[in-house]
Amino acid sequence: MRASGAGARPGQAETGLPAERGLPAERGLPADTPGQADAADPAGGAGQAKASDDVFTELTGQGSVVAELRQAAAAAADVLSGRAGQRAGGMAHAWLLTGPPGSGRSVAARAFAAALLCPAQGCGSCPSCRQVRAGSHPDLMLVRPDGLSYGVKQTRDLVLHAATAPAAGRWHVVLFEDADRATEAAANALLKAIEEPAPRTVWLLCAPSAEDLPATIRSRCRLIVLRTPSSAEVADVLVRRDGVDPQRALAAARAAQGHIGRAHRLATDADAARRREEVLRIPLAVTGLGPALTAAASLVSAAEEEARAVTEERDQPERDALRQAFGEGSTGKGVAKAVRGAAGALRELEDRQKSRATRAKRDTLEVALLDLAWFYRDVLAVQLGAQVELGNVGREADLRKLAEATTPESTVRRIEAIMTCRERVALNVAPLLAVEEMTLTLLPG
Ligand SMILES: [Zn+2]
Repeated sequence: MRASGAGARPGQAETGLPAERGLPAERGLPADTPGQADAADPAGGAGQAKASDDVFTELTGQGSVVAELRQAAAAAADVLSGRAGQRAGGMAHAWLLTGPPGSGRSVAARAFAAALLCPAQGCGSCPSCRQVRAGSHPDLMLVRPDGLSYGVKQTRDLVLHAATAPAAGRWHVVLFEDADRATEAAANALLKAIEEPAPRTVWLLCAPSAEDLPATIRSRCRLIVLRTPSSAEVADVLVRRDGVDPQRALAAARAAQGHIGRAHRLATDADAARRREEVLRIPLAVTGLGPALTAAASLVSAAEEEARAVTEERDQPERDALRQAFGEGSTGKGVAKAVRGAAGALRELEDRQKSRATRAKRDTLEVALLDLAWFYRDVLAVQLGAQVELGNVGREADLRKLAEATTPESTVRRIEAIMTCRERVALNVAPLLAVEEMTLTLLPG
């Protein structure tokens, strides 16, 4: 687990990595980080800041969520100024933000954190807001599992640290980006903290859905539900923010199924788009046993390739930052000690990077499987004559060909096999085995 912000001050983070905050990796996440340029909240509610350029403007298509978070930030400010209880809703110490991958739940959580920590409730331009954006605010602990889950020891350390007084005198905000990845023991430690919250601590948990957390935690959080933005909303962001051609933006948005970060990648990264094309060639290519096994192998290797591209981008800068933090070129008697410390920290970093790579591989394979399932969902829509927006723009001919050659029942069976494969990969079944079994169900008949 990694904690940046206050948790990453030298000697405080359990990793002992002084240089963790502000790493390029922190900003380079594919999933949720790309800013979103849509101010879809004309009401603005209680916010003092202008709705056009404050911290909430990065949320796409989440008008009611933005209104609720503004209201909550105002209520939190009331608490600080001793006017508590005046405002509807009041202040909660634990929040659970849910939404499908890519809907922007961690963007929403960060915006809310900024609003809590900013004297003007999230102006977007003051030093506090800028520190939140950079991930270096002393009172914001940004926590994500680097491996597959959060452990109990790390969670206990975090709970202890979060109970201390906030440095800037407002709130201590702890943001868990994938709270659903907490182990049971870690969840119990977290539950204790939420049951008896320190007066100035606010917990922000992010998860795909409320059901992903134990009921005991869920019931103590105020729930914020983000919806999947429409293809048009996602495309609009790509056009206005990234200057993507409108037609290309819409195709990417539909292909990404409402996942803004993935849509951005598909529209702007030729390799990502090519890998997706390869995945979508599978349904028509699987004509016999040989092609089915080849398809499985290429699906797994495409996922590994993409995972490598994503992790390598992050690994080297982290290693460089670590070396720098341990004083490359320093002199005096501290050097020997620093060298010993650096060796240990480097080993730890490599372990974390390795488990992150495993996770990335699994995540990218999952994306490929969802692309494939989405393709068959379109086939089914054609077979049933359903009036829905097709996800696979430009592949209508393939869709029709398969729709005519197979039955809706067999399409449903294939979608189920893909989803089963996805579950098995999540359960740590060897990816190639699980995928081979799945591609065999794609054979004609
Ligand atoms: Zn501000």
